[in-house]
Amino acid sequence: MSRVDLALLRDVFEAAGEPPYRAGQVWEWAARGAASYAAMTNVPAALRARLAAEVPFSTLDVEREERARDGTAKTLFRTRDGHPVEAVLMRYRDGRRSLCLSSQSGCPLTCTFCATGQMAFGRNLSASEILDQALHFRRIEAVDHAVFMGMGEPMLNLDAVVDAARLLADVGITNRRATVSTVGWLPGLRRFVDEVTEPIRLALSLHAPTDELRSELMPVNVRYPLADVLAECTRYFELRRRKVFVEYVMLGGVNDRVDQARALAALLDPKVFKVNLIPYNPTGMYAGSTRKAIAAFKDVLDAARLPATVRLTRGRDIAAACGQLAADPRPRARTHASA
Ligand code: SF4
Repeated sequence: MSRVDLALLRDVFEAAGEPPYRAGQVWEWAARGAASYAAMTNVPAALRARLAAEVPFSTLDVEREERARDGTAKTLFRTRDGHPVEAVLMRYRDGRRSLCLSSQSGCPLTCTFCATGQMAFGRNLSASEILDQALHFRRIEAVDHAVFMGMGEPMLNLDAVVDAARLLADVGITNRRATVSTVGWLPGLRRFVDEVTEPIRLALSLHAPTDELRSELMPVNVRYPLADVLAECTRYFELRRRKVFVEYVMLGGVNDRVDQARALAALLDPKVFKVNLIPYNPTGMYAGSTRKAIAAFKDVLDAARLPATVRLTRGRDIAAACGQLAADPRPRARTHASA
């Protein structure tokens, strides 16, 4: 349940002659992981029964759930009008519980390494549909981080993404622990920098150190070239004093050479950017870089004092890892990445 449903809730309460604070009570229960209206014991029983009849508890139906050996859980949902949506809960040894949320069903951009980009685009998700992904996992356990890196380009659906991110704070995910990832859709990115005042973090899916290669991998780059996108990220840093995470998926023989690492180090200001190197989950089109290649690439960034880490891969065996969300039975790839 989110803001949209809260509006519906308020209508129902009004019709029932109930005070408006009841809607807040119901949201509090939902945000703390209540499994149904029946669990909301400070709400009168007759009202709970009416809610159960009139306001669906979630905007999404669960179609399939999978769990990887490392504890990662992936859920395939369906919207009421039949669009597939996937989201992932990543469980880390240090206790962090991080969600990877989708902002669209499918994606209209067609990054060549990403399974989501190869499936048909459905539509933007509403704030409720985004938030209901998080509430689903909150009903399983407490969660504390979220990345908007599932299906879709969040900057194409910015209002709903930011609405959802704001409400995630009630679910246990503070703004500082929420990250919006973009491939560099400039109109949305500019609005994100100018209009969003909450300390929500920014990640850029970069994946190539030159316009030439980036345009090959990510057609969005033809429209919005690197220099403009990086300038916008720098503006975010200057306004917020928060580093921008750079996601760089390691494609064997494509973007993982040492000279490309040097070009990346020359491109990114270490004060502004922090690089996340992402071992690639093969989708058929590319091979992942070898460990040796990733280590050599990172050595170059380290020598240039550009902060860099290698992402821990989660959920590979259930196609829940980065680049693997495609809402079909199996292997493939997703997306931006997590922080
Ligand atoms: S990487 Fe992101 S923007 Fe590119 S196709 Fe995949 S979901 Fe869309």
